[in-house]
Amino acid sequence: MTTDTTVPLVDLRAAHAEVEAEVRAGFDRVLATGGFIRGPEADGFEEEYAAFSGTRHCVGAANGTDALELALRTLDLPPGGGVVLPANTFVATAEAVVRAGLRPVLVDVDADHLLIDPARVADVLPQAAALLPVHLNGQLAPMAPLLELAGGRPVVEDAAQSQGARQHGRSLHGRIAATSFYPGKNLGAYGDAGAVTTDDDGLAAAARLIGDHGSERKYVHERFGFNSRLDALQAVVLRAKLRRLPAWNEARRAAAERYHRLLAGFDGVTLPRTAPGNEHVWHLYTVRIRPGRDRDAVLTALRGAGIGAGIHYPVPVHLQPAFRHLGHGEGAFPVAERSARELLTLPLFPQITAAQQERVAEALAKALA
Ligand SMILES: *Cc1c(COP(=O)(O)O)cnc(C)c1O
Repeated sequence: MTTDTTVPLVDLRAAHAEVEAEVRAGFDRVLATGGFIRGPEADGFEEEYAAFSGTRHCVGAANGTDALELALRTLDLPPGGGVVLPANTFVATAEAVVRAGLRPVLVDVDADHLLIDPARVADVLPQAAALLPVHLNGQLAPMAPLLELAGGRPVVEDAAQSQGARQHGRSLHGRIAATSFYPGKNLGAYGDAGAVTTDDDGLAAAARLIGDHGSERKYVHERFGFNSRLDALQAVVLRAKLRRLPAWNEARRAAAERYHRLLAGFDGVTLPRTAPGNEHVWHLYTVRIRPGRDRDAVLTALRGAGIGAGIHYPVPVHLQPAFRHLGHGEGAFPVAERSARELLTLPLFPQITAAQQERVAEALAKALA
């Protein structure tokens, strides 16, 4: 609970306070019609999110993991084909690959930004049917080298953490991207939701078909699909929040700048960096506690001081029991493994105050002393 002395990792109630009136009015509209799946609110949101993203299409889904699966399924890759993704990501990226009947091919990340490392992608290219970079923490993976490496192979983007982020002015660089509207994301629903974005008319139509039981006309099922649709109540929330997202992302950038200033002289802390060409949206502000320091002790001290710090992510995908069958042991992806031991995410959300950030910095200084 937020009291005067605690700083949560994210504060969803502060965001809700800004949109509450619009959300309640929208819910009333939907409740009056009784149309809960898709409907005009979902159509409206898709149009608005496509415009926001600078893409021709947006197709809503039930959550981000489904959206990734939908994006991969639209490509009709050969069953069991390799999809290259970074070892340092949320497990959903790898789950979606398996669910789409494909094979995760994990690679390490670069030490400066923790984004998929093109040099490591080059190592596994013979196994790759597609590339699946993750735009981690709010900035895009290095798309130009990845697209060049990909050659004719499709590039699918995991944009769950990068709503509004751009690289050289563009959000979408590959064939298709998937995002998540999990409540804690930069654009969060009041439950689960997600979407696919693409400039390709055929892929958008395929995503829509597959996510609605492979059916365009009721009871005619043209291709094998499943159920992953955006619901009307979530669309109401997302429309209200999308109107604030540019300002909210701007507020996140200002908060990140403030952390940069507050933490600049801290011994034993490496600050996050923005890769060239990137417009960062700071989904997470993640520092690294340098070797020789005990990250877990720092985390415990922060939590003891009422600071909602976190770790993203404590265990890389290849060391998760569910992905042991991929056959990578300890030492397979040294940068991902080392960063898992060093990462520390500090509270950051659009409404965070300067006083709250100063409290975080003070607590961190004390924890490091
Ligand atoms: C949140 C997230 C997902 C999955 O989204 P859900 O909506 O929770 O299914 C996928 N990839 C990344 C990188 C994420 O952060």
